[in-house]
Amino acid sequence: MELLKERIRQEGLVLSDTVLKVDSFLNHQVDTQLALAIGREFARIFADKPVTKVLTIEASGIQFAMATGIALGVPFVYAKKKKAVTLSERVYSAPVRSFTRQEEYRVCVAQKYLGPSDNVLIVDDFLATGAALVGLVDMVRESGAELAGVGCVVEKSFQEGRSLLERKGVRVHSLARIASMSPGDIRFAENDHPIHRIEEPV
Ligand code: 5GP
Repeated sequence: MELLKERIRQEGLVLSDTVLKVDSFLNHQVDTQLALAIGREFARIFADKPVTKVLTIEASGIQFAMATGIALGVPFVYAKKKKAVTLSERVYSAPVRSFTRQEEYRVCVAQKYLGPSDNVLIVDDFLATGAALVGLVDMVRESGAELAGVGCVVEKSFQEGRSLLERKGVRVHSLARIASMSPGDIRFAENDHPIHRIEEPV
């Protein structure tokens, strides 16, 4: 998605070889028009699937899941990061190791919101190690729902997340795939092509 890549070039801050800060427009302050455009793009990409629900994980996937749900005309559900007191009913849950915080937590979704009649599109802001998305995929499969695929806003293709998901038979589409990065130098890979095809440096 060219508009998104342009914003990453302009505003993305590479904090280390593995962490990209995009909190001026994606996941702290949110550019609402860009978020809506991202939702429309995911809806277009997965238009061949009869999606009934969008699933994400709190907190920074929520704006993109909502935008995608609006574009598709379906509800979205966000997995909570630990079992809240209010979640007294039955839940699906999975352990996740956080890439940015380096700690392990559980994610859970109330069973009444995911079931065999659903076709689920999972959406998240970043695909890094894939741990968070694998947790969501496992919950969708446990629920008996169909999995339409996974849509990521930013994929760091040099990390193992995509191959982990693909090995589980999951269709993955990312709107911006970063092949490599270092401070002042972000290089994108072509979408959904092998990672060795690198675009011009910025
Ligand atoms: P994963 O489970 O794929 O390793 O990443 C889980 C979460 O960590 C993502 O949903 C995202 O919120 C956060 N994350 C991973 N890598 C980055 C990064 O480079 N920058 C930011 N801002 N968040 C990241």
